Amino acid sequence: MHHNMHNCAQMYAHILQKTMNMKELLIQTKVKVCSEQELPQQLQELVRQAKDKTQDAYCPYSHYHVGAAALLEDGQVWTGANQENAAYPSGLCAERTTLFAANANNPHTPVTALAIACYTDGHFTHDPASPCGACRQVMLETEHRFGKPMTVVLYGERECYVFERASDLLPVCFTNENLEG
Ligand SMILES: [Zn+2]
Repeated sequence: MHHNMHNCAQMYAHILQKTMNMKELLIQTKVKVCSEQELPQQLQELVRQAKDKTQDAYCPYSHYHVGAAALLEDGQVWTGANQENAAYPSGLCAERTTLFAANANNPHTPVTALAIACYTDGHFTHDPASPCGACRQVMLETEHRFGKPMTVVLYGERECYVFERASDLLPVCFTNENLEG
């Protein structure tokens, strides 16, 4: 056992040595940081709807209420909240209930902005809401299918993050272009 571990550590050191000589790429993303009041009026209104929607979350397991609001190009707003399930993986995040509802009912109308807010322990989170990887992937697809940037606002009581496009939330992403090889 000891002998195997030693070999393993040696091999790993060798790999590390190799990667240290490789070219490094620093991937950066741009995000605007501001208070809720500093947001443009339209986004403030969208954040208000996302915050309101947290109260409609069904989250008896996590008690983590998430609300989202999607603004469509024609001015419609679709909202959603997380929907949990006793069989955990059967539930769905607020971001996806919102985007799927918006897209299923308006398959030809681009989504121009998405606001997300989280409420737990009797208050909205101080830090900006942070979407899971799967939701980021769905946001990216929404942006790609309509070919229009989708602004993403992550609400926090202390500060909000504003991403100009969904792809800024998912660097080195997988899109339909990857499927084409
Ligand atoms: Zn998610």
